[in-house]
Amino acid sequence: MSRSSAPVSPLRLFGTDALIGEEDRALRDAVRQFVEEKIRPEVGDWYEQGSLPARDMAKELGALGVLGMHLEGYGCAGTSATAYGLACMELEAGDSGLRSLVSVQGSLAMFAIWKHGSEEQKQEWLPRMAAGDAIGCFGLTEPDFGSNPAGMRTRARRDGDDWVLTGNKMWITNGSVADVAVVWAQTDERIRGFVVPTDTPGFSAPEIKRKLSLRASVTSELVLDDVRLPSSAVLPEAAGLSGPLSCLNEARFGIVFGALGAARDCLETTIAYARERDIFDRPLASYQLTQAKLADMTLELGKGMLLALHLGRLKDAEQLAPGQVSLGKLNNVREAIAIARECRTILGAAGITTEFPVMRHANNLESVLTYEGTSEVHQLVIGKAVTGEAAFR
Ligand SMILES: Cc1cc2nc3c(=O)[nH]c(=O)nc-3n(C[C@H](O)[C@H](O)[C@H](O)COP(=O)(O)OP(=O)(O)OC[C@H]3O[C@@H](n4cnc5c(N)ncnc54)[C@H](O)[C@@H]3O)c2cc1C
Repeated sequence: MSRSSAPVSPLRLFGTDALIGEEDRALRDAVRQFVEEKIRPEVGDWYEQGSLPARDMAKELGALGVLGMHLEGYGCAGTSATAYGLACMELEAGDSGLRSLVSVQGSLAMFAIWKHGSEEQKQEWLPRMAAGDAIGCFGLTEPDFGSNPAGMRTRARRDGDDWVLTGNKMWITNGSVADVAVVWAQTDERIRGFVVPTDTPGFSAPEIKRKLSLRASVTSELVLDDVRLPSSAVLPEAAGLSGPLSCLNEARFGIVFGALGAARDCLETTIAYARERDIFDRPLASYQLTQAKLADMTLELGKGMLLALHLGRLKDAEQLAPGQVSLGKLNNVREAIAIARECRTILGAAGITTEFPVMRHANNLESVLTYEGTSEVHQLVIGKAVTGEAAFR
């Protein structure tokens, strides 16, 4: 009797496709095909070179329909939240940098304008951003204020009818390639958001170099040196920290799915490798120690997927609370990075180059663990929810 049988991919074993509607699956498959054809052949080189052809890529992603895809109107596709999550998963199976471009564009910059902007701001920016003809960035973090954005030093002061912005933002995705920056600043009253065309005098965005993570992504500092804006530049519907936090919640939701894409790519790559690689005269995949690792990773990937789909369904029913997004972001990124590192052990030395995507994903996930709320911040959010005690300070 044969001891071997055809292998089943980890998520197929979980049967999670049965939980996804036909329309959402079709959208997901289109993004998967795009990643296979346009991203996978190139991304190892982009990563090594520390660059991303962001302008061309934005246009292609716009044509694919994923920029602001879960928003209604203004040239956006108006898909389900679950479909958006699944698209993030496929994009991040390509590279976290690609998914970051899409998250920042759709969930941070476009969402901020869509949710908090004036009709004039929406008309001016959203259709171009959905098409990928204009790139957006989102400036919240500062050199001294990451986890505690309430302390921000960037100021917006009134001068007649104008606003004048001064300060520095740090670690801003898409910053140097952006046409428009959504910048959050402290005013005499509350934190307000501003729509800043990046050709406004006094605005500059030097790129941050020497990154060892998210190398196929543009990360920048924003320098605001007396940037003068008309009164119409302020986001009228956002006052206080709840404005930027509402946007972060959207992007975090995408990451709940996205991180699993990187993990899935690592695991599938590793299973294929272990089946091919002979060690002591038999396939690495046939050893119990290897199978124990693969089984545990399959479990965590599948559990993460079930959690993501559950949160997607809650979001589609407009019942998703921020604390629940923290559950997903904390678990799925933490498990994804653990999977990537474990996969690297199975690849041995072959795992340390860009010939395989595993270490690239692992390095990328270091950033994903930190941005959009660090793991510790999400632990504190969950801790507050279940104890009623805030332990942030
Ligand atoms: C590649 C990349 C892209 C990014 N893109 C953007 C972007 O587009 N826009 C934007 O605004 N920001 C962006 N960020 C910034 C990101 O959101 C911040 O890095 C993140 O919020 C953490 O801030 P920090 O790096 O200053 O760390 P810190 O806030 O200094 O945290 C340092 C450590 O302290 C821990 N910590 C914080 N508070 C507590 C506490 N109360 N108790 C215990 N431990 C605590 C943290 O968890 C962390 O481990 C990006 C970051 C990266 C790396």
